[in-house]
Amino acid sequence: MPKSGSVLLLSGGIDSAVCLALEVKAGRRVIPLFFDYAQPQLTTELARAEALCEYFCIESPRQIPLPPLGHNNFDYPMRNLIFISLAANMAFRYDVGKVITGIRDSIYLDTSYLFIHIASGLTATFTNDGIEVRHPIFWLDKQQVIRKAKHLGIPFDLTYSCIRASSPCGECPSCKERKKANV
Ligand SMILES: [Zn+2]
Repeated sequence: MPKSGSVLLLSGGIDSAVCLALEVKAGRRVIPLFFDYAQPQLTTELARAEALCEYFCIESPRQIPLPPLGHNNFDYPMRNLIFISLAANMAFRYDVGKVITGIRDSIYLDTSYLFIHIASGLTATFTNDGIEVRHPIFWLDKQQVIRKAKHLGIPFDLTYSCIRASSPCGECPSCKERKKANV
C-alpha cells in the first residue's frame, strides 16, 4: 500500500505556499521543512514559513541548519539537490512516501526539467521504498501560481519573495514579479 503524506520544502514564498495549501486542503499529512543556508532573507522567510504553518493549522517547519550555500551573489550551486536529498532522507525516517517541492521551470540549472527528471529518478531509485519527488507547480508561470494562490485563499502578506534582503529590495526578479502581479 502506498505511504501517505509528504515532506514539503517550505521557503515562505508564494510557490511553496501554494504547494502547502494544495496538500493541506486535500487532507494529506505534511511535514514542512525550512532550510537555513545563510540566505540574506533568512529571518523574514522563516517568520513567513512559520506564519503559513500556523495559518493552515499544521506543525511548525522543521528547521534544517546548513553551511552557507551562496556563491558570487545569489548563486547557490546544487541547492535544490541538497534540499531534495535531505528531504528524502527525512521522508524515509518519518515514513512518508513523498517529497514535494515548489520548483518551477526557470533559467537556473537546478530548476530545469532535466534537473527535476534526474533528481526525481535518483531519489526514487536509490531509496529503499522509492521515495517519490513531486513538483506540482513546475509548469505554471508566476501569474498562474498567483491565481492559484488566490483561489486557495493564501494571504499574500504571509508570504515573502525577495531573494536579497529581509525586507523587500524592490529590485530583484522576485520583487519585480510581485510588483507586476500587484501582490
Ligand atoms: Zn527583492
